[in-house]
Amino acid sequence: MPQPLPPCPHLAQNYARQPVRFVRGQGVWLYDEQGRAYLDGFAGVAVSCLGHAHPALVRAISEQAATLLHTSNHYHHPLQERLAERLARLSGLPRAFFCNSGTEANEAALKLARLWSRAQGGSRPRLLACEGSFHGRTLGSLALTHTPKYREPFAPLPAVDFVPFGDAEALARAIDARVAAVFVEPIQGEGGVRVPPPGYLARVRELCTQHGALLVADEVQTGIGRTGRMFACEHEGVRPDVLCLAKGLGGGVPIGAVLMQEEVAALLGPGLHGTTFGGNQLACAAALAVLAVVDDPALLAAVRAHGERLRRRLAEIFPEALAVRGQGLLIGVQLPYDPAPLIAAGLDHGVVVGPAAGQVLRLAPPLIISAAECDELCARLAAARAALDGARAAAG
Ligand SMILES: *Cc1c(COP(=O)(O)O)cnc(C)c1O
Repeated sequence: MPQPLPPCPHLAQNYARQPVRFVRGQGVWLYDEQGRAYLDGFAGVAVSCLGHAHPALVRAISEQAATLLHTSNHYHHPLQERLAERLARLSGLPRAFFCNSGTEANEAALKLARLWSRAQGGSRPRLLACEGSFHGRTLGSLALTHTPKYREPFAPLPAVDFVPFGDAEALARAIDARVAAVFVEPIQGEGGVRVPPPGYLARVRELCTQHGALLVADEVQTGIGRTGRMFACEHEGVRPDVLCLAKGLGGGVPIGAVLMQEEVAALLGPGLHGTTFGGNQLACAAALAVLAVVDDPALLAAVRAHGERLRRRLAEIFPEALAVRGQGLLIGVQLPYDPAPLIAAGLDHGVVVGPAAGQVLRLAPPLIISAAECDELCARLAAARAALDGARAAAG
């Protein structure tokens, strides 16, 4: 059993970290300083979609590092253009703005909502988001994030009205011609892998169209194949006005993106928004390598099949679960107890899983996981669970 590691005295104390130091990865496996292997069922919060040290991503990054890393957005560069074109083809949203993270993508979307209102004489001061939402930690995205413990220490924040997630009729009552934008995650990731009822997103789309509000889909967690489609909105045939991406897009290299309808993109004139690093050569090379792998019907079908396989097996391992839910390889096991001891026991048994809000155990393994690796992940979780049960029984 790994000993609790002393925290580094030179790091800010804002993270409650697991007592492990990973130093190397290969495929779905992570290795710590002692060389112990862990099956990665979390992918660094749904980021490492190609797993670790994927040859195509390694090659793209290495070659780009040896060619040109960065020039800034003062200049054109062909990789950013190629990535924007590829994302446009995949999403049906013709224009892209690149940034470095999920919160920055939502921050940009928030500024687009302000511009949308401004273009209409400032007649749309309202913003809507969902209860249980998570959109990031910068002040604007935090205003859209519902969780009181994240928001309250930083008040005052820009005004946002929250509606219950998954309840289209509640949205119908809340929305009006003074709403600039509705921010919604197709599945709430941090919020507990909460899946809305079928038809919800399509109805949100209708309501936004009817009231002239922008539909901003925050696919920072659900995008790039995570749910078994390139974008989770596709499950309902919905095209948002603005689509936010980050996490999986660079496969571990930081990059975020905001994809936009032409009419929305037209609001964003030169100088109105920008970033130094956003979409630099290294990040774009990584994202292009990721898309070359993920934009593959066979891989996406495997993500769906392996998701079902995991959910079926997890329901057997955790018969006490209130729900085993999710889509593709974004999976939540809602437990009637805090999953933290189970996550710690998982590390002891060589498996990495994570939490989500509402006593949810969250799995988001690399998209390249095989069926055999799914079974191994479950076997290790079952062993962790058994050890925990045994320890509890011994303690009386
Ligand atoms: C993780 C996440 C964010 C924030 O992304 P960062 O890169 O941590 O800023 C925003 N929205 C959703 C849905 C997320 O899952």
